[in-house]
Amino acid sequence: MRKKLVAANWKMNMTVGESTSFIEDFRRDVAEISNVEIVIAPPFTCIAKVSELLGGSQKIRLGAQNMHYEMNGAYTGEISAPMLRELFVRYIIVGHSERRQLFGETNAIVCKKVHAALGAELKPILCIGETLEERDAGKEETVLRTQLVESLGTIDEESFQDIVIAYEPIWAIGTGRTASPDQAQKAHASIRKTLSEIISPASADKTRILYGGSVKPSNARELMSESDIDGALVGGASLEERSFLEIVKAASGEIEE
Ligand code: PEP
Repeated sequence: MRKKLVAANWKMNMTVGESTSFIEDFRRDVAEISNVEIVIAPPFTCIAKVSELLGGSQKIRLGAQNMHYEMNGAYTGEISAPMLRELFVRYIIVGHSERRQLFGETNAIVCKKVHAALGAELKPILCIGETLEERDAGKEETVLRTQLVESLGTIDEESFQDIVIAYEPIWAIGTGRTASPDQAQKAHASIRKTLSEIISPASADKTRILYGGSVKPSNARELMSESDIDGALVGGASLEERSFLEIVKAASGEIEE
């Protein structure tokens, strides 16, 4: 059984004050939920404060949105994996389509980040996804396979256990347009099949594959009830405590109609 995981990607939003009131409310509101792992990835400026507020919570894990693959050095404006670990960050979003499209991250760079993260005991949430043109041309499975193979590189099975995959069709991110549960399930099943070929069937079966792309309280339950959808990576709807809470509740099976 794969434990559901719901991750918040706050992107370039939230001040320290805003994140403080979010976390204070959220910790109280999820007190009764035990069957979902939650990750919150604030902007770097809020990480220290959120870390302090979470106080090592097992239920709500701290994430980060990006890191450099080198450990230290002359990389102005960058942050390294050991710096994040010092603040008790556990998960790192790697290869988000905004990083790929706006900051020129290639699969080769993503691969270096995945391995640097694993070396520093951070768990990568590796994002992959196709563009609308690629989907319309019927190439989505090939694109996802290439992204997986090139972003994982040579990886041993034990290290792979710490990786979470996020399927985020680019046409569904921040657009309000969600993949249908059926479209998402098909993509997740093809990702799991690729993992079973390139890692092993047993590891593929254990890997959590999250769906991301305009997840909201109104569609979360249906998406996460698909057999290969093990949770969600949530952007816009994670900025409001109530709506993120509803998505976490949908993952836990605790639904308010
Ligand atoms: C994301 O950026 O990872 C994402 C899924 O964003 P949104 O939920 O806003 O589409």
